[in-house]
Amino acid sequence: MDSQEVDILIIGAGPSGCVAAGYLQQKGIRIKVVEKSKFPRMVVGESLIPRVMDNFQEAGLLEALDAYGFEKKRGAEFIRGEVFSVFDFSDKFGEGWDWTWQAPRADFDLVMTQELQRKGVDIQFETSVTNIHFENGYSTTTVEANTGTRTQIKAKFVIDASGYGRVLPRLLGLDKKSQLNPHSAIFTHVKDINRPQGKKGTQISFDVLDTEVWLWVIPFSNGLTSLGLVADTTFIEQLKGEKGTAEALRKAIQLSDFYVQRFADTVFEFEPVHLKNYSSAVTQMYGNGYALTGNSAEFLDPVFSSGVCFATESGILSAKLAHRQLLGETIDWQLEYADYMQRGIDVFTTYVREWYTGNLQTLFFHRPENPEVKRKICAVLAGYVWNEENPFVKKHDRVIRTMAYMLENNYPFSSDVFD
Ligand code: FAD
Repeated sequence: MDSQEVDILIIGAGPSGCVAAGYLQQKGIRIKVVEKSKFPRMVVGESLIPRVMDNFQEAGLLEALDAYGFEKKRGAEFIRGEVFSVFDFSDKFGEGWDWTWQAPRADFDLVMTQELQRKGVDIQFETSVTNIHFENGYSTTTVEANTGTRTQIKAKFVIDASGYGRVLPRLLGLDKKSQLNPHSAIFTHVKDINRPQGKKGTQISFDVLDTEVWLWVIPFSNGLTSLGLVADTTFIEQLKGEKGTAEALRKAIQLSDFYVQRFADTVFEFEPVHLKNYSSAVTQMYGNGYALTGNSAEFLDPVFSSGVCFATESGILSAKLAHRQLLGETIDWQLEYADYMQRGIDVFTTYVREWYTGNLQTLFFHRPENPEVKRKICAVLAGYVWNEENPFVKKHDRVIRTMAYMLENNYPFSSDVFD
């Protein structure tokens, strides 16, 4: 078997692996990325949130992504019946980016990997990790190319950014059941021939059909639109019945007053994909010689588009810490990595959970709107979930529940109750 030696091995070339690689390449570290697929490859996760821009910038990928011309996302629209709740990222609490992109991930991830390769990063596509062995923090990873060739890669540190592949959680037995209720999704892309002109046509929107059932519409700059249905797993199974995913998605579109005309006769670009019980977690996010990032560590739910934000935040942070470790520093991975990431996960977990209890929907759809509450929630939706100056971050565990209770019981209501 061939062998190779690098400082840091990165598993997976999704957003998490790419930002880690971009950061480390700028620091002159010997890295290698192994990626199972051939790019472009299809993956879900097309609506980004502004916090990712900080991470793409630090990884040196922002310029290349910007040059491509992906659709700019400046906010999002949530719809329930006749009520529209529109969040504009330029009107949020605190500092931070006020736009990002909504993009087909096949193209988006391809742009990132091409930029990394242009800068000299060694990315080996169509190559899977099949085994890993750690000794005193040093690792030996066995990879297998789809030609059948096997290689052993020795590395001082491994960043597992393998997403749904969850390479190290599986090999090291670190998988843990998510605390969230099981949800599933069905999605496809369509030629959006009835897309309204202007901002209305390019705005991302979510139609809430029932407390736990919602549709997403994510228009792309190439004329295609991503169309998805999310619901608890039993509901999706019932809707699918014997007839399959296409029939289930069509039935859901019929339930949406807002989308039915635009998508009633739409042609699906591919047989809608059914992703079941996608939430996942791990027992530990790091170990001696490795860190888990992105979906390999944790995935909650698509409702607030937090996936790529978490993937890039953990990708860049793990790269920074691994770099410092290579330079001889002792890193407290629990404090600087796991605890930091967990704070963001906890905030998003509360928002996801309170969305599905209906409490957050009470805040979104109550009229008249409270602009201060909205600005603070908007900062969370933009991904600034580590800014504890925002009471909707710092006191996330009670603010939504309490405010929903106050609204439902007609108590006098002010946003600064929690300041
Ligand atoms: P990935 O993007 O999955 O990349 C991991 C890479 O690792 C892949 O290219 C894979 O081929 C490679 N790999 C896997 N196994 C191996 C192996 N053995 N060896 C080598 N390489 C390997 N997020 C958002 O931000 N916005 C959204 O709108 C959104 N919508 C979603 C909708 C649904 C229904 C679901 C389930 C998720 C959604 N997400 C969304 C989440 C998003 O898909 C992920 O959080 C994001 O892609 C994670 O990035 P990553 O880099 O960790 O992993």
